[in-house]
Amino acid sequence: MSVTPENALAPDLALKASRSRVLFGSCLCGDVGYRICGSPLRMVKCDCESCRRARGVASASNLFVPARQFQWTRGESQVVSYRLPGSGSSFATAFCRRCGSDLPRASRGESVVVVPAGTLDSEPDLRPQAHVCVSEKFDIADDLPRYAETPPVV
Ligand SMILES: [Zn+2]
Ligand SMILES: [Zn+2]
Repeated sequence: MSVTPENALAPDLALKASRSRVLFGSCLCGDVGYRICGSPLRMVKCDCESCRRARGVASASNLFVPARQFQWTRGESQVVSYRLPGSGSSFATAFCRRCGSDLPRASRGESVVVVPAGTLDSEPDLRPQAHVCVSEKFDIADDLPRYAETPPVV
């Protein structure tokens, strides 16, 4: 299997521009909301250690959106940012001050916003195009039974 670094994604991974769309998203408590106008550039599942720790998931589904297409619709003052210190790291995260939900954050010289797909208000008609940073992946993919709801613990 070939592994492609995130910053070298082939141009053909770019999402095909479709009809204009508006996507809305928000945090768990609802204090913070945002809007994306137009098609995202791409959607990938990131398996890097930073995403895993910051989001508590094995694989983070992220949309990449031009900053000019992104707007906070409410609660921007509630958004707290954290940038991982140290040379060689550009990882940053943002979250709601009240509920702690992961939220969109600026990346790559502020020209692109990385949007956690799980914060969208409705299921997007997009699918991830690739896994990136798989060299850091926790391999917990599975074929376990699937339940629509959480089954009782006891
Ligand atoms: Zn919140
Ligand atoms: Zn990552």
